[in-house]
Amino acid sequence: MKKKNNLPVRILIALVAGIAVGLVCYFAGLADFTATYLKPFGDIFVNLLKFIVVPVVLLSMIDGILSMGDMKQVGSVGVKTVAYFLCTTAIACVIGLVFANIFMGAGLFPDLSAELGAAEYEPKAFNGFMSVLVDIFPSNMWGAFVNANMLQVIVVSLFFGGAIMMAGEKGKLCRDLVGSMYAVIEQLMEFVISLSPIGVFTYMAWVTATQGAAILGSLFLVILCAYIGYAVHAVLVYSLSAQIVVGMSPMKFFKGAFAAMIFAFTSTSSAATLPVSKECAHELGAKDDIAAFVLPLGSTINMDGTAIYQCVATVFIASCAGIHLTIGQMVIVVVTATLASIGTAGVSGAGMIMLAMVLETLGIPVAYIGLIVAVDRLFDMGRTCLNVTGDIACSLCVSKWQEKK
Ligand code: ASP
Repeated sequence: MKKKNNLPVRILIALVAGIAVGLVCYFAGLADFTATYLKPFGDIFVNLLKFIVVPVVLLSMIDGILSMGDMKQVGSVGVKTVAYFLCTTAIACVIGLVFANIFMGAGLFPDLSAELGAAEYEPKAFNGFMSVLVDIFPSNMWGAFVNANMLQVIVVSLFFGGAIMMAGEKGKLCRDLVGSMYAVIEQLMEFVISLSPIGVFTYMAWVTATQGAAILGSLFLVILCAYIGYAVHAVLVYSLSAQIVVGMSPMKFFKGAFAAMIFAFTSTSSAATLPVSKECAHELGAKDDIAAFVLPLGSTINMDGTAIYQCVATVFIASCAGIHLTIGQMVIVVVTATLASIGTAGVSGAGMIMLAMVLETLGIPVAYIGLIVAVDRLFDMGRTCLNVTGDIACSLCVSKWQEKK
């Protein structure tokens, strides 16, 4: 436990040390040294991220579906909640993409493919919507896993989740198995995340040694872009939800949600913030039974901040790798990031693992994720804050809708 708590400090130290070592190597002309001896350790970290992404997506999606299965008991509350979650997350993706493209269009995101080695990128042809639709249904389940075809893995998860639910009593063993395996994979995920300081130090040293201080400016810009997206989403979606649906002034809403927002910002975990968000939702007038359903579900599947981060990071990484995403690919980003954010666990750093999945789906080299791993915590603080605010807004809206009924 103690180890987990000081992870942010270790990441910060790794970040500063990585930059310092990188700058020294840059001025001493030792960029090759960092590429040969430091970067491989970062590569190991990225390999581990890739290695756990399929089981994490598979199990967390099935687990999520099984927990939604109990939704039948909550009937229309469940349907309204999930509809609210899906709509707001899709809007979040669009906001993220719009700002990321503005930044990229303005030339604020760099193209590092010449310096860092051109990406082995085979653009996945966009042959129209129907062909994307056909392709997401795997003809071979193992093929989906082996090729880490994320949309196919998600379809497999949806089918299995639904089937386990329909099997009722007889499917209980499978249900328990999924629960147990998910607990195991969560441990593994925690372990991989605990290795981030190594990834942060080595990649930061390598990137700074190759790029000089310029890369720091680029990282600042991509963080700024994400935070603008977070702020716009909060103002647009949550203020309007509060004002139009609940009839509450946005000021009052944000004031009431403030404690949970700050807690989420510092803890970077929606799950850990749950007790505080329950309290805030109660104070703001959400019905207790509705909040008791919406908030825990939201902390596992409703991640608007994570969706914005994934879209911004995807465009940034694509730009660094010298790849320009087409409109068709952007549509895939919206679909994948929406699903990825649903599959993201409400714990610190989980969104970064799911980002690997979005990149994988688009065929963007996942190794480039190393560019932003170092500053993931800074993204995470803002995205978790937004995730939690979205859950509270939803509990208020659904309470209001049920009241009207
Ligand atoms: N830390 C986020 C949360 O708990 C998830 C993420 O990493 O995006 O909501």
